[in-house]
Amino acid sequence: MASEEEDFQCTSSGDEHTIELKEFLRRLNTKAEGLSSEEALKRKDVCGANVLAKKEKEGLLKKYLKQYRNFFAVLLLFGSSLSFIAEYLDPGQGNIFIAIALLGVVILNSTFTFIQEYQAQRIMESFQSLMAPTARVRRDGKIVELPASELVPGDVIYLEEGDKVPADARLIVQNSLKVDNSPITGEAEPQLRALECTHDEMLECRNMVFSSTLVQTGNGEAVIFSTGPDTQIGKLSLLTEETISVETPIRKELNRFVKIISAIAIFLGIVFFIIGYFIQDAYLANLIFAIGIIVANVPEGLLPTVTLALSLASKRMAKRNALIKQLESVETLGSTTVICTDKTGTLTQNKMAVNSVHTGSGYIDVKNGEKPPEMLLRVAAVCNNSRLSDESPGYRGDPTEGSLLAYADNFKDIRKTQERFPRLAEYPFDSRVKKMQVICRTPEGDMDSYLKGAPEVLLKLCNRIMLDGEEQELTGRMKRGLEDEYLQMAERGERVLAYAFRKADEIKEYEEGFTFLGFSGALDPARPEAKESIRRCYRAGIKVVMITGDHPVTATSISNIVGLNSENREPVLITGAELEKMPPEELELKLQSDSIIFARTSPLQKLKIVRNFQAAGEIVTMTGDGVNDAPAIKNADMGVAMGSGTDVAKESADMILLDDNFATIVNAVEEGRTVFDNIKKFIAYILTSNIPEILPFIAFVLLAIPLPMNVQLILAIDLGTDILPAIALAIERGEGDIMKRPPRSREEKLLTPQVLLTAYGLKGPIEAAAGFASYFAVLYGGGWVWGQQLDLSDPLYRQAITAFFAAVIVCQIANVFTSRTRRQSVFTKGVFSNRMVLIGIASELIILALIMYQPSFNAVFNTTPVPLEYVLLAIPFALLLFVADELRKHFVRKDSATVGKLFGW
Ligand code: ADP
Ligand code: MG
Repeated sequence: MASEEEDFQCTSSGDEHTIELKEFLRRLNTKAEGLSSEEALKRKDVCGANVLAKKEKEGLLKKYLKQYRNFFAVLLLFGSSLSFIAEYLDPGQGNIFIAIALLGVVILNSTFTFIQEYQAQRIMESFQSLMAPTARVRRDGKIVELPASELVPGDVIYLEEGDKVPADARLIVQNSLKVDNSPITGEAEPQLRALECTHDEMLECRNMVFSSTLVQTGNGEAVIFSTGPDTQIGKLSLLTEETISVETPIRKELNRFVKIISAIAIFLGIVFFIIGYFIQDAYLANLIFAIGIIVANVPEGLLPTVTLALSLASKRMAKRNALIKQLESVETLGSTTVICTDKTGTLTQNKMAVNSVHTGSGYIDVKNGEKPPEMLLRVAAVCNNSRLSDESPGYRGDPTEGSLLAYADNFKDIRKTQERFPRLAEYPFDSRVKKMQVICRTPEGDMDSYLKGAPEVLLKLCNRIMLDGEEQELTGRMKRGLEDEYLQMAERGERVLAYAFRKADEIKEYEEGFTFLGFSGALDPARPEAKESIRRCYRAGIKVVMITGDHPVTATSISNIVGLNSENREPVLITGAELEKMPPEELELKLQSDSIIFARTSPLQKLKIVRNFQAAGEIVTMTGDGVNDAPAIKNADMGVAMGSGTDVAKESADMILLDDNFATIVNAVEEGRTVFDNIKKFIAYILTSNIPEILPFIAFVLLAIPLPMNVQLILAIDLGTDILPAIALAIERGEGDIMKRPPRSREEKLLTPQVLLTAYGLKGPIEAAAGFASYFAVLYGGGWVWGQQLDLSDPLYRQAITAFFAAVIVCQIANVFTSRTRRQSVFTKGVFSNRMVLIGIASELIILALIMYQPSFNAVFNTTPVPLEYVLLAIPFALLLFVADELRKHFVRKDSATVGKLFGW
């Protein structure tokens, strides 16, 4: 490295596309072989890391204050101010406590929500850093894979289909390279690249590739001249910080729910204010009751608990190798009805190994290392874009090609062969044409074209065959014989490639006149867990659809191994060609079958498959890894990209599988179903206590009894005793039948009338009854007579409301237990299997004890110790609540029509 002391240019001067290549390289002080790592390190110091400055993050304080701007907070703040006013007008009635409590609620709630969202954001960010982009770059004469942030001006990068371009660079090598420049120019049409300057404008010029754009097809090499903020995209500073969007279906539904509940609350509040006004003309006291009713009805803890449940689920899923990009898609997963999965790599291990080689005249003995014909080995070695590597599995790059290199490596020096036959042009593999061709210079100075690809494609291009070192004409009969051979290979589940070559007299893609050389068959073992996962899908009412570019025979063979055909399910087989021609009605019919195999499909046809399933009302999860998979991934209800897939696929996906494993998708579906169930469970739990919170106010107004429950105690339930148990329900494990019942329908909402009825019509009234029983027991025990009013500070009154409160808590303890299951009996769960439930119960008891016995709590809540028998009086009611809910589940399980209609969820 002679010229290391010389200068180089850190930033673009804007004419990199027009100047001579020599001048360009001189300016950057680099050459086609790239930089040394030492030099690159120096340059990084000078030019900075290749990262785009993130848009200034919204200040934490600003984000926090935002939490106070929502409907909830405003409502409660309004109530708080009213109570302050009431305290001012009529001091000593305890209104100050309500005012402070409401203010406290808003602060607590906002803080909790803020922390939740902040943590969720952090989780998502950590996922993002797990997916940090990498780039292949020439350093010290070798191609190495580095984080994109390490790149510097002067680096030579290698680009290939599916890559995201890591910096602005000028092309020095290109093969059918097309880029999607839409992130910069907005043009969606892929743009062909070239080595010449074609336009005065840099952005229009074909010899340029720009940071953040995507390589659609082909490959190439380019020299970086601009990194980080100096790049075109950096200057546009388009890259906004990715935030969690709030307007997902589940959020919308929750917001709608909260609005309805609040509207009801406000309506009730106003109605009772008016009624109260006519009955007893106590203006201020009535206002406080109105506030009480509103506060009692608003489920303050709901939104943060839902966020918590979702972020805990996404964390659990990440542990199981599934990264979710959007919290709320956890829930979409749970409703999946069809999983369309790739075969290669997802159902199989993507560990290809050559298993058999056929030379046209017969098989060679692969097991014992018999050497294949020279020419076939050469095509395998030079018509190949993967690289040998010391690390397992012995190659880097595409496994189909890698396995060929690893195989050829047994017989010849790959590197030497590639040097002896330097590549002049490449017509890259594309799953639509299913072949790859290269033009190479031979040591004699001629040119050869080497071709490999799907057998039925290649045989059409061959008119000669190489048999035992001699070229002969390839007759129709011989062709049919060869067809039989490759079908036999495919029947063993092998992915078959054919090889051919011809002389070339110009550099172009040849479409005829090839000489056939032979077949290779590579085996890709099925993943051991695939079979069980597919069975779980079937049990869970989820259709599994295998999509592959492989031959139908290979596909069928693999489908047998993974059990796509088990239990008398003969899979329906549709090839890409058939799919193109099939009338819509027939396709619709075929898509109804339980298991379907799409073979010889191109990724673009995946989109058609997704659309057709969706038209049939299915909720589709679709996997993919390549560039061409992106449209299907985007359009699927749940797009899944492979961790090993291209940047493009990952960008369009909702979920990324770190281990590429089909089983991981199924696990994620299970988590999705569980979290949906759990949210329902804690909604039912939280809503139950609304009834014993509202009825006291109604009774107070209508029956003119002393108010059995004050606003402070309501808040103690909603924001104290209910919170930890609700969280405990959020992390409850799935019920035993979670993967044995059919997928939830798209229409099924979180907040169905059945959930409401269970809470408001079944469990809630029992709790209220418990409260009133204890309340009246205390009052009558203390000599109270019906119609007698009691002073708020009267010890008897204070005992009575304490008893009411205690009774509700006792019932909520039973409630949290039964709420652990939706349909299964709670006895299917161990008492200790969710320790959080026990912690939640402990928290309820501690708060109850404090409110009953602790003097300063007594002062705030207007409570006082009560004899224990009044608290124990609630136990029969708690048992009743428990039994009632178990009976509900029992009848729902037994498919009882009436119970199911009213209480089945
Ligand atoms: P899949 O979606 O299952 O990975 P592909 O579309 O990648 O399928 O491959 C389809 C067919 O194209 C394969 O069965 C094989 O015959 C052929 N093929 C695959 N990879 C290559 C390659 N790198 N070069 C030439 N032919 C290939
Ligand atoms: Mg492939």
